[in-house]
Amino acid sequence: MRCPRCGNEMRTEQLEGIEIERCPVCAGMFFEYNKLQTLLMRKQESRFKFYRNIFGLD
Ligand SMILES: [Zn+2]
Repeated sequence: MRCPRCGNEMRTEQLEGIEIERCPVCAGMFFEYNKLQTLLMRKQESRFKFYRNIFGLD
């Protein structure tokens, strides 16, 4: 995949277990919408666990 911003070849990297495309030139970062959702849902889940631990709900 080429960077939509500068046209440079992008690198595939892992971010919290999901693949993202990162441009080494302009530091642009792009990933598919469903991957973004997966990441956000994981974040939400860990936040939920965080509160459960605080309030001792387990
Ligand atoms: Zn770029």
